[in-house]
Amino acid sequence: MVLRLLKYGLSRGYPVTGDLPPTPDLRASYDVVIVGGGGHGLACAHHLAKYHGIRSVAVLEKGWLAGGNTARNTTTIRSNYMTMQSIAFYKEAVALYEGMSEELDFNVMFSQRGQLTLAHSEATLRAFHLRAETGRHMGIGIEVIGPDEVRARVPELNMDRGGALEIIGGLWHPDGGTARHDAVAWGYAREASRRGVEIHQRTAVTGFGVTGDRVTQVQTDRGVINAGAVLIACGGMNYDMALRAGVDLPIRCFPLQAMVTEPVKPWLHTLVSSVSLHTYLVQSSRGEVVIGGGSDPYQLYSTRSTLDLKEHLAEGAVHLFPFLRGLKVLRQWAGITDMTPDYSPIMGASPLDNLWLDCGWGTWGFKATPVAGKRMAECIATGRVPEVLAPFALSRFARFDLVNEMGATAASH
Ligand SMILES: Cc1cc2nc3c(=O)[nH]c(=O)nc-3n(C[C@H](O)[C@H](O)[C@H](O)COP(=O)(O)OP(=O)(O)OC[C@H]3O[C@@H](n4cnc5c(N)ncnc54)[C@H](O)[C@@H]3O)c2cc1C
Repeated sequence: MVLRLLKYGLSRGYPVTGDLPPTPDLRASYDVVIVGGGGHGLACAHHLAKYHGIRSVAVLEKGWLAGGNTARNTTTIRSNYMTMQSIAFYKEAVALYEGMSEELDFNVMFSQRGQLTLAHSEATLRAFHLRAETGRHMGIGIEVIGPDEVRARVPELNMDRGGALEIIGGLWHPDGGTARHDAVAWGYAREASRRGVEIHQRTAVTGFGVTGDRVTQVQTDRGVINAGAVLIACGGMNYDMALRAGVDLPIRCFPLQAMVTEPVKPWLHTLVSSVSLHTYLVQSSRGEVVIGGGSDPYQLYSTRSTLDLKEHLAEGAVHLFPFLRGLKVLRQWAGITDMTPDYSPIMGASPLDNLWLDCGWGTWGFKATPVAGKRMAECIATGRVPEVLAPFALSRFARFDLVNEMGATAASH
C-alpha cells in the first residue's frame, strides 16, 4: 500500500487536474466583465452561466481568488434584520445557503446552529420585540427569550446577575448559522469555470473608458478589453472602482477586525453576540473560538490589526465566558469594509446604462453571497431590477428613502 502510494505520487501521470484551469489570456471582448473575484463576483458568474446561458464572462481579480473580505469574514449567516425589505432579501439568502452544497456539488459546511443576541438592558429588549414581530410577520424563525432560556441554551454564559451587564433576555434566531467561506467561493468558481466563465487572477482593473452613458472599455494591467456589461463587486475597493467610472457612491471605508483562539473542546453550539459589549463569538468546526466586534472608528485603507481591538475583543469574550481567560490567540486580521450611511448594500443600476453595482457590503455581505449573485445576474441578463433588490437602489439616498439597519448590523454582522 505504502509503496503503491509512493509510486502513484511520483509517477509522471499523476492525474491531478485542479479545480480551476490556469488563468487564460485575456480576450478582446466579453459579454460581461465582473470586477472582483470575491464570493459575490463568483456567485454572479455562476448564475449568469448556469441560469441565463451567458458564458462569455470574465471575472477579473487583482489578487488571488476570494482573498479579499470573503477570506476575512467571520461567516455569520442570518436573516433577523430590522426592516421588511432586508428580511425579505436575507431570508432568500438563508434559503439559498440551505441548498448550496447541492447546488455547487461542493460541501460548504453550512451549519444552521442558530444565533443568540443578548440583551443587557430594557431598551435592547424592546428593540428585540420589534424585530421579532417584524421577523415573524415575514416568516423567519425568531423569538425573544427570557434569561432562563438563554441560560438553558448556553449554560456557560456569565449571566452577571445583579451586575452592570446582567443578561436579561435574548433574541433567538434558529435560522442563523455559518458556512466555510473558502468553500463557498471555490464552489462558485469551480461551477462557473466548468461552464466556460474565465477567471483571471492577478488581473487588476485600473480604469474604464466611458462614452456617453456606457462603459465601453475595461482597462486592466494586462490590457484593455471591451464589455457588453460590467459589474462592480470589489468589496473594500468599491468606492474607488466606481469613481473610476465617474460614479460617486455614498460609501466610506473602515477597517474591521477579528481574531481566533487556539482550538478547545466543542462547547459553544450557537452563535452568540452582545451588542452592548460589541463582541460576538462562534466556535469553528476545528474548535477555535472566532471572536469579532464592531468596525474601527476611523476611515482607513489598511488590513493591519491592532492591539487595542484585540484587548477589546478579549475583554468582551472573557466577560461573557470567564473560562476563556488564558486561552491563546492564534491569529488576528482585518478587512477594509465599504460602509453605507444606512448599513444596507447598494445593488442594481448605476447612472451608466451597462454598469451594475454590487457594493456597500460593509460588515455584513458574506451572508448575501448567493442571493446577491443570483439577483445581480438577473439584473444583467434581463436589464431589469427584481423587486427584492429595488429598496437597495443607489437612488434611495437622493430620495432619502433609507433602509436603516444600523441597529441590527453593528456588532452582529
Ligand atoms: C473581519 C470581518 C468580518 C466579517 N464578518 C462577516 C460576517 O460574519 N457575516 C457577513 O455576512 N459578512 C461579514 N463580513 C463582511 C463580508 O466579508 C463582505 O461583505 C463580503 O465578503 C463581501 O464579498 P465581496 O465578494 O463583495 O467582496 P470581496 O470578498 O472583498 O471581493 C472583492 C474582490 O475584489 C478584488 N479587487 C479589488 N480591487 C480590484 C481591482 N482593481 N481589480 C480587480 N479586482 C479587485 C479584491 O482583491 C477582492 O478579492 C466581514 C468582514 C470582515 C472584514
